[in-house]
Amino acid sequence: MKTDSKQIIHIDQDAFFVSVEIKKNSSLAGKPIIIGGLSDRGVVASCSYEARKYGVYSAMPSRMAKQLCPHAIFIKGDMADYTNYSQQITELLKERVPVLEKASIDEHYIDMTGMDRFFGSMKFAHELRQSILHQIGLPVSFGLSINKTVSKIATNECKPNGELYVKSHEVQDFLNPLSIKKIPGLGDATYLKLSEMGVRKIFTLSQIPADLIVKVLGKNGFSLWQKANGVDLTPVVPYREQKSIGTQQTFDIDTMDVHHIKEIITGMVTNIAYELRQKQKLTACITVTIRYSNFETVTQQAKIPYTSLDTTLIAKAKELFDKVYNRRMLLRLVGVKLSHLVGGHEQIELYGTAERKYNLYQYMDKVRNKYGISAVQLATTIPPKKKY
Ligand SMILES: [Mg+2]
Repeated sequence: MKTDSKQIIHIDQDAFFVSVEIKKNSSLAGKPIIIGGLSDRGVVASCSYEARKYGVYSAMPSRMAKQLCPHAIFIKGDMADYTNYSQQITELLKERVPVLEKASIDEHYIDMTGMDRFFGSMKFAHELRQSILHQIGLPVSFGLSINKTVSKIATNECKPNGELYVKSHEVQDFLNPLSIKKIPGLGDATYLKLSEMGVRKIFTLSQIPADLIVKVLGKNGFSLWQKANGVDLTPVVPYREQKSIGTQQTFDIDTMDVHHIKEIITGMVTNIAYELRQKQKLTACITVTIRYSNFETVTQQAKIPYTSLDTTLIAKAKELFDKVYNRRMLLRLVGVKLSHLVGGHEQIELYGTAERKYNLYQYMDKVRNKYGISAVQLATTIPPKKKY
């Protein structure tokens, strides 16, 4: 059932945001550090291993983290810095590996299949890790195995500063004793359902008939069951082939009404930012396209720190529109695209009003999930009544 042919490396920075902060200020090393919203309503974006010892973890409310680890040092964090280091790491890897997927701000998959005969995947991965450690100066771990899931679990098991090779004949023995919580993508609700059935170890999950799991968990159950059996057929998607999220709108009547166009842009960005959050992704690049009535098409693009926040993206889109729309000519189309997508939901630019807004967005997303995207919009986003 398992294919011997694949050699997949999962390489993941150790406590990435914290490590960047320590690189900036070495006196923080060895201390319990929490990155994230400082206010009562904030959440932990990342925390050091010293803080994890107290039970602090990512996405936990900051208030709870403070109770668990009162002497922790809270740092507000700087997404621009983290994005910068993230891109340096990607560049370093891109130059050296055949097929690279950027999975999140601090996580990459490398498909070494075919290359392993020439290099020896373990030696190659070890050297990559050393390069990141010495050239970028940030701690990193990797797992090497037959597919993405097993490699990622291997990384998580050997962190921090670890390397782990799980050979194809060792996969099931490696997985069996682990908690099902270690399976990437297995959320709290699923864990609850499975543990109510007495399923807590990967071994137990792997032994249950697949159709029973599907009955209990639906479609998603089958892929979890496969993972428990060491099977994951999802390919490493090369960096350049990763999809973007975008939308465009052709006006009923060509227009020069900048105010109206900006309202349309606001609506479009609201929708695609929602889609971005639904897919649990962040973007680092935004593009605005306009088409004049003579069909001439021009675009403006900007690199931004990783985000999925409406407010940030709307402001940037409007700014790009102002730059790109520089001829006094009617427009027939406007489009917005978000690219350089990676997995993640860390929102560390959230303080004060932005944080309150984020809570508002989370609430709005919940309503949209239930009643559809147009059920709730910010007052400024509601499209104006047609004047024509
Ligand atoms: Mg990491």
